[in-house]
Amino acid sequence: MCTSAHGDFGGFFSVVADKPGGGSSQASANLIEELAIANRILFREGVVDGFGHVSVRSDADPSRYLLARNMAPALVTPDDIVEFDLDSQPLNANGRGVYLERFIHGEIYRRRPDVIAVVHSHSQAVVPFGIVKTAKFRAVCHMSSFLPICTPVFEIRDSEGEENDLLITSNKLGVALAEKLGDGSCVLMRGHGSTVVGSSVREAVFRAVYTEVNAKLQAEAMRMGEVTYLGEGELKKATKTIGSQINRAWDFWRMRAEGKI
Ligand code: MN
Repeated sequence: MCTSAHGDFGGFFSVVADKPGGGSSQASANLIEELAIANRILFREGVVDGFGHVSVRSDADPSRYLLARNMAPALVTPDDIVEFDLDSQPLNANGRGVYLERFIHGEIYRRRPDVIAVVHSHSQAVVPFGIVKTAKFRAVCHMSSFLPICTPVFEIRDSEGEENDLLITSNKLGVALAEKLGDGSCVLMRGHGSTVVGSSVREAVFRAVYTEVNAKLQAEAMRMGEVTYLGEGELKKATKTIGSQINRAWDFWRMRAEGKI
């Protein structure tokens, strides 16, 4: 069913037959457009490069989600958006390649009904926090108050042993990652990257951007000396206040991604 083209086509590429009788996408055009914009913003803001992806739960059917076909996020247009079921089987790929790591999205949506959007990236400043055992990733700044008090790190060896490619390429691995995420907003992936979730595309994008910002600030602070982190009360209150300001950043990031400013 799943034909991975590892080796023949350089990896990260997978052509999967559409689910028979899956029907057509009923998701709104606005949501599909928003997701395409999110892809371009995440590139412009340095969260994704040629790799990484963002998805949104369908606004027509909570058991489906939308994700671009296999391509660089900066190039995504609404025509490139594919719909998947929660097993991460495509419904309307029509022979187009899909992301190998789509199971990240499907299994998080299955486990977390509150999650509406998911960003998976390899944003560079975050990666060291997944590999340095003594460096716990925590919020150091009000803009990243959505981060868990202690961000979990997913260790793929716990599921796959030593012989693994670090990628989430099955439902089984997606389940394990979603379990490690728990009820939080962010999970680090050892030697790989991170995944953040939100209650909207805009919130997930905002969180992905400020996860990377927090990593840069925290690393710099740790080089300078002993660090003071945000406390639990601050995380809760700042998240509520700043959560109401996300559209301000979105409007600006969108203009910048479109080259208008
Ligand atoms: Mn990845």
